[in-house]
Amino acid sequence: MDMQIGIIGGGLGGLLAGALLSRDNNVVIYEKMPYIGGRFTNIQYKGYQLTTGALHMIPHGADGYLAQLLSKAGCKVDIVNSNPDGLFRINNRNYKYGELFNIVGFKDKIKCLKMATNLKLGRIDKDISFGEFLEDVPLALKVGNSFTGWALSLDAYSVPMAEIVEIAKNYYRFGGPGIPVGGCKKVIDELSRIILENGGKILTECKVEKIEIDEDKGYIYTVEGCSEFDIVISNLSPKLTEEISNVKVIKEKKPVPSRGIKVSIGCRDKLIKHNGVLFTPECERVCGLNCPSNVDRSLAREGYNLIMAHAIQVKDNVKKEIDVVLEDIDRLFRDANIEDYEILHIQTFRDDIPVNHASSGTDIDPIVDNRLYLVGDGAKGKGGIEVEGIALGVSKVVSWIEEKRDILS
Ligand SMILES: Cc1cc2nc3c(=O)[nH]c(=O)nc-3n(C[C@H](O)[C@H](O)[C@H](O)COP(=O)(O)OP(=O)(O)OC[C@H]3O[C@@H](n4cnc5c(N)ncnc54)[C@H](O)[C@@H]3O)c2cc1C
Repeated sequence: MDMQIGIIGGGLGGLLAGALLSRDNNVVIYEKMPYIGGRFTNIQYKGYQLTTGALHMIPHGADGYLAQLLSKAGCKVDIVNSNPDGLFRINNRNYKYGELFNIVGFKDKIKCLKMATNLKLGRIDKDISFGEFLEDVPLALKVGNSFTGWALSLDAYSVPMAEIVEIAKNYYRFGGPGIPVGGCKKVIDELSRIILENGGKILTECKVEKIEIDEDKGYIYTVEGCSEFDIVISNLSPKLTEEISNVKVIKEKKPVPSRGIKVSIGCRDKLIKHNGVLFTPECERVCGLNCPSNVDRSLAREGYNLIMAHAIQVKDNVKKEIDVVLEDIDRLFRDANIEDYEILHIQTFRDDIPVNHASSGTDIDPIVDNRLYLVGDGAKGKGGIEVEGIALGVSKVVSWIEEKRDILS
């Protein structure tokens, strides 16, 4: 028998779960905003496709967990893998990862090679942080900080080595990032197409006020009234899910949100000539930049490039932090002899709208109980960077529901 599944939140997590589950079940998605996609969709501005959050990048590109689930759901998204994955800007020059070994002294080079080999083979003390692992070599620590800052919005000392080992495994398995043609919104449009084609419903401007779970059913309350479901899936943060429900969602350790600052820049000149990440280990706050319009010209105004810079927020004074970020950007452009660029958009992410509801290593289990599940970036799978982690979490929820179908329906 088809199950009735209510999904709260039409972000990437909710829509991905909805697309996969709507094939064999009746799915209703409740989204409080007038648009779907949450922090993973486009914002049109001055001929550019800016975003509500993400940097138009999928961490493991066309081969990773998200790409696999999109294709399983029937979505048609063209993801162009980055080549190179990333370059590192040091002393106004761009280096490939392998070339970094040549710009440190002999002793540090030996230490770095040892670290890289140990990481690849998993011969690591998993109880220390990535920062502690790298700190013997100052350049390695800077490079590590720029990587974790870009990919996880955390400094290297805030990332457990256990998480880095899993991230490294995924990197060796699937490779580096990719950019979806059409940007984040293409992914969202495809997911919503599949849900609607499968007969699912997406209700926008429909805020969920309360969730009630009992042994046999789940109930979703909006101003319009209450609806009954076999299963409720929350795409809200674990904290908010707990606040509006009668269930204890956070059982052991608390998820710790990560915060960050994103700046979108328009520019005629090409600061970045490739489709990967330009990591910036020497900046104060900016960890890296990318240029998604190098993959899809329609993401930028004609004749211009869209550059997105991501920075970690270190101190609490946001205004001062933004100043430091803008100084970094000014220095990067000046050093590259580019005078003419336009800051299009500055966004800060923290508190209730962070970069991730659970920073890597602090995610909670998506299976709350038989009737209530979590999806999204508060319940990512181990070693899954950003949307790859969301895909891992969704995959766990969908498999669980499919396996327990007889008991749950
Ligand atoms: C600056 C920045 C850069 C990033 N870059 C990347 C990147 O390049 N690649 C990458 O993979 N990831 C990136 N991320 C992370 C990625 O964007 C997020 O992890 C992902 O979009 C989160 O999706 P989600 O479904 O968990 O949550 P959300 O997108 O937040 O979705 C939750 C949805 O629930 C809705 N909602 C909330 N409350 C209610 C309610 N009461 N009733 C109904 N609906 C409700 C919200 O409106 C929202 O639509 C970035 C994030 C940021 C902020």
